Amino acid sequence: MTPLESLALSRGTVDRVTYRRNDKQWLDAAWADPRTRVLVVSDGRALVRFDDDEHVELIFVSPAEAPAGVRFLLGQDADGVVYFGVSGDLPASPDGARAAPPDGARAVLLREVGVLLGDRDAGLLTHAVALANWHDTHTHCPLDGTPTVPDPGGHSTRCPVDGTEHFPRTDPAVIMLVTDPDDRCLLARNAAWPGRRVSILAGFVEPGESAEQAVIREVAEETQIKVTNVRYVGSQPWPMPRSLMLGFRAEAPAGQAIVVDREEIAEAHWFSRDELLSAIKAREIALPPPVSIARHIIELWFGGPLPSTWTEPQGPVPPRR
Ligand SMILES: [Zn+2]
Repeated sequence: MTPLESLALSRGTVDRVTYRRNDKQWLDAAWADPRTRVLVVSDGRALVRFDDDEHVELIFVSPAEAPAGVRFLLGQDADGVVYFGVSGDLPASPDGARAAPPDGARAVLLREVGVLLGDRDAGLLTHAVALANWHDTHTHCPLDGTPTVPDPGGHSTRCPVDGTEHFPRTDPAVIMLVTDPDDRCLLARNAAWPGRRVSILAGFVEPGESAEQAVIREVAEETQIKVTNVRYVGSQPWPMPRSLMLGFRAEAPAGQAIVVDREEIAEAHWFSRDELLSAIKAREIALPPPVSIARHIIELWFGGPLPSTWTEPQGPVPPRR
């Protein structure tokens, strides 16, 4: 068991039934079954219905109502209901205006509703967004540029010319909470972030590098702090567009000065628990939202829930690449 539990996007209750992905007969029968539910994803958005401020459900369509687009198997639940995703246009209103989905429905991003969905829906949407993002951006063979053909289950593609098979991409990234000998935590403001936003350090794992090596390298690059005792604490998929966030703790031996690179990191400071709470209450800083693994790692160090979140209307955090 890892110390991090209840990560919003690391839930999911639907069996992926991976052995069905190339079973064309089973897939055809499932697609012909009116009980089958289809989740449509369009540019990272899916339709949801808000029951109240804190409870959101995905809106599915039947296979007959599904739009054209790449289809992929998401899984099968304990009641035998099969779930597919389709990357295509969101269901339109009866008059055909695409901007007007069914009554009470809203097209939302995973990051907006990840914590509000139940376990089943959080898992389905995370899975569907990840696969839709891959299909949307990996349409041709990387060897000869031929358009590829998805396999029946939609979890790989094949080049019809040279026969090469291609699989979904996931880019590992490390995200780490660094503490000093006084157990203060290092929080930084990314140069691309607006206003008061701060978080723990993060970065992509490079080819030929372990996750632990990436933690040490990224902290040194961004702050010139050398860390030791790197420990894994948990992970969360972050398919925006295709990351897997690997959470770590690390320790900074005494006697080191923070020197930020000023390109990626604008500023970084040590915070004791009291200093963090004071800075939040004084509205000097704001922490990442509960959908992020960063928030959970910070609260794990703090020892409980913290107030404040990024709710500024500036929009989502830009990608780090
Ligand atoms: Zn090819």
